Amino acid sequence: MIIDKHHEHIENDPHYGGLKVNDGIEMPPPVNADSVSRFLQKKKKRKLSAQQYVDGILQGDVTILSQAVTLVESSKPDHQEIAQEIILKCLPHTGNSVRVGITGVPGVGKSTFIEAMGTYITAKGSKLAVLAIDPSSERTKGSILGDKTRMEELSGNPHAYIRPSPSAGSLGGVARKTRETIILCEAAGFDTIFIETVGVGQSETAVHSMVDFFLLLMLAGAGDELQGIKRGIMEMADAIAINKADGNNMDKAGLARIQYENALHLFPPTPSGWKPKVLTCSAFHKKGIDQVWETITEYLALAKENNYFHHRRNEQSKYWMYESINEQLKMGFYENPEIKSKLPGFESKVLNDELSSFVAARELIDRYRQLKK
Ligand code: GDP
Repeated sequence: MIIDKHHEHIENDPHYGGLKVNDGIEMPPPVNADSVSRFLQKKKKRKLSAQQYVDGILQGDVTILSQAVTLVESSKPDHQEIAQEIILKCLPHTGNSVRVGITGVPGVGKSTFIEAMGTYITAKGSKLAVLAIDPSSERTKGSILGDKTRMEELSGNPHAYIRPSPSAGSLGGVARKTRETIILCEAAGFDTIFIETVGVGQSETAVHSMVDFFLLLMLAGAGDELQGIKRGIMEMADAIAINKADGNNMDKAGLARIQYENALHLFPPTPSGWKPKVLTCSAFHKKGIDQVWETITEYLALAKENNYFHHRRNEQSKYWMYESINEQLKMGFYENPEIKSKLPGFESKVLNDELSSFVAARELIDRYRQLKK
């Protein structure tokens, strides 16, 4: 088939027996093209002041909230400066919420559970923000939590706001950013905050230190080792929900419930006076979700009545103050150009037994102190 200049459309080839297609005409410019592009440029350049961000957040503007969270997550000093100002101004508008940590190994059904629970509580009038701490992002730059398309139903829910885990930095850094994001979300009117993490590393300790209630999702019939759940994590749990209690799995789930209840009896009493509960549910079939929520509200009623709720939040604030100090000290040291350049040399001296680890560390820290004078 020959297509020359005059037969730009394949249909105009003499061999083609179909319709003739005329050359198109050039599209006239849209009437307001100029003003649109001016508007877009303006929008791109427009930078909000801290107060404008705060006003937007307090009005519940989710776009502005997202932009502010991006500032919180950024490591650029000017972004951090404005982020801290926004956080400070939002602080008086926070605290009237419930913060729930949700953990469990990959595949246990966390996202399915959060969808089911999120749909249930937003229908009851809650405004829900779902945040995440993804420990994998730090090392592999990949993510355990975020790769698949998750929580499709909830993402379209006007009463829910889903923000994936901040991806860069140390666990301490990621956790701090999540904690600051909680503040912004609460100021934006979200009264329920879910923080999801994978129960395989240290991230659940970080999550535990920023929530009021810690929920552990488990599966029936898989040994604890198989589930990668350490005793310490079970000890932190205010409730264990055995998920996938459906179909053939019902009996096994019931049995697992009894076993976990027995195991929890052996743990020391919790400082809140609360006896951790074990429940079964099916996130997929949306069964038992209401009971898990009831348990959370029961716990809150108790912890508020005996004042443990406020005590725990105060302890957490204190903990995060020290965590922040540690993080900043560490960053200051490791990001210092001279220290950075000296570290590899010291490392090889230690490896070659020319310096002990302790002396190497002391010399570097002494040098850093001198630099700071
Ligand atoms: P996550 O990795 O912990 O977030 O787990 P997902 O929510 O992605 O669930 C992993 C798989 O388990 C998916 O195929 C879900 O459909 C399935 N699943 C989740 N909850 C249930 C449940 O209650 N019952 C059954 N039978 N399957 C479930």
